[in-house]
Amino acid sequence: MKTRKPFVVGNWKMNGDLIANEHLFTALRASIDRSLLSQVEVAIAPPYPYLGQASAWLGDTEMAWGAQDVASFENGAFTGEVSASMLRDLGCRWVIVGHSERRTLLGETDDLIAHKAERALAQDIGVIVCVGETLEDRESDRTESVLAAQIDALARFTSGVRVDRFVVAYEPVWAIGTGRTASPEQAQAAHVFIRSRLAQAGADAARVRILYGGSVKPASAPSLFVMPDIDGGLIGGASLVAEEFVAICRSAALA
Ligand code: PEP
Repeated sequence: MKTRKPFVVGNWKMNGDLIANEHLFTALRASIDRSLLSQVEVAIAPPYPYLGQASAWLGDTEMAWGAQDVASFENGAFTGEVSASMLRDLGCRWVIVGHSERRTLLGETDDLIAHKAERALAQDIGVIVCVGETLEDRESDRTESVLAAQIDALARFTSGVRVDRFVVAYEPVWAIGTGRTASPEQAQAAHVFIRSRLAQAGADAARVRILYGGSVKPASAPSLFVMPDIDGGLIGGASLVAEEFVAICRSAALA
């Protein structure tokens, strides 16, 4: 029996519109009830423009909503950026930082990601920090050194960070949106390594939740979530299909 409450986060990425979102929110409200939420924490991360819509649809439920990114600046002349205090105004309980798509496509560095996380934490917004190796890293036996560098960069805030405000998502880049999932054993080994590195970085590592992300589907979720160090999932594609997302939440509750 795990002592950490499982957590499932839906990363909608740059998908959706007002009408499609309304259908998705309606379906989530109908299926993710209080009893399920007593067993698994659930959060949705829609694109920025729909955070107000998330608040309107989820505000009277115990599901949380959050953003997919946040500025590393506090406020001011940073055209196009969205600050942590703005996210707080919109009721965000969580923000994802360091997603591999942002690391790869937008050149985000470990240092920038740590700054973003600190901005969010300063506004009392929980952070879900994504880490993970590329296929090339894995094939050249660099998985642990890459994960170590990504975790070590967080060390300036990990000691003393509240465990209900800090989550790590292990997302092997080769498994994101590819239909290729890490095996439960591969994921478990990476989670164990991340947990030990978090301990070295001063975090209360035994209590920090580490989610797995990378093509999780209803069929693959149970065998991943049953692993002792996997505390839920960060779900991309399947979070856009209500039945799939709900099934994944149920698997996390049962694990
Ligand atoms: C993600 O975007 O974080 C993700 C894991 O995507 P997918 O589930 O589609 O691989």
